[in-house]
Amino acid sequence: MADEPFALPAELEEFRALVREVVEEKIGLARAAEIDDEDEFPWDVHKIFVEHELMGVGYPEEFGGHGGGSLSFAVLIEEISRISAGCSLMVLVSRLGAIPVMLAGSDDQRRELIAGIASGAHQMSYCLTEPGSGSDSVAMQTRYERTDDGWRLSGTKRFITGAGTSDAYTVFATKDPALRAKGISAFLVFRDRPPRRSTSRTHGSRPTG
Ligand SMILES: Cc1cc2nc3c(=O)[nH]c(=O)nc-3n(C[C@H](O)[C@H](O)[C@H](O)COP(=O)(O)OP(=O)(O)OC[C@H]3O[C@@H](n4cnc5c(N)ncnc54)[C@H](O)[C@@H]3O)c2cc1C
Repeated sequence: MADEPFALPAELEEFRALVREVVEEKIGLARAAEIDDEDEFPWDVHKIFVEHELMGVGYPEEFGGHGGGSLSFAVLIEEISRISAGCSLMVLVSRLGAIPVMLAGSDDQRRELIAGIASGAHQMSYCLTEPGSGSDSVAMQTRYERTDDGWRLSGTKRFITGAGTSDAYTVFATKDPALRAKGISAFLVFRDRPPRRSTSRTHGSRPTG
């Protein structure tokens, strides 16, 4: 039997057409070129994405997202990138930061973050890389320790996309670098609040929440 060529379902082609219309009409090539030249975070485009319910695509509705799965998200990124690769990162990087919370955060963390990303209240970054730890991420030196009222993180991250504009961060840190992968946990950090651990993937235990 000959292989059928892959085709997206009709509703995803409709979604593609909708995103294309928004991106072409509301951003356009001239604004995209300006954004690249200015090297700034385009909050006007972020507002357009929020208003057209694009920031919440690919997140579960029960937590305040706009639904759809990985394919919807891929179509969204493809269509934004067609006009502006830089603008696609606003959506993409927030999702990268949100994935650890979706996988292993508490429901409260999921609700706050996903609803916040969809409504434009939160923008996320993903903080893994360090000056001495890139591909070999388990070589990270950023430490976490318990304090009387929460957690203290200490260390240096680098190459963090959107770090200066985001207000929420998934930060990876280790209890002890000698523990390699088993020492690492992920923390949900808001710019103006102390960190909260979003996974308990330490010492071989399973994630909770
Ligand atoms: C534009 C940009 C945005 C980024 N955004 C983020 C972000 O938002 N958050 C974040 O955490 N990080 C981010 N990063 C960091 C990115 O994840 C790291 O650059 C990446 O992990 C590689 O690490 P490194 O640059 O230290 O290179 P290294 O790990 O030092 O690698 C250097 C070279 O050695 C090669 N190499 C490494 N290990 C091996 C091996 N075992 N065998 C063979 N070859 C090997 C690599 O392929 C590469 O060519 C970003 C980087 C860039 C460039």
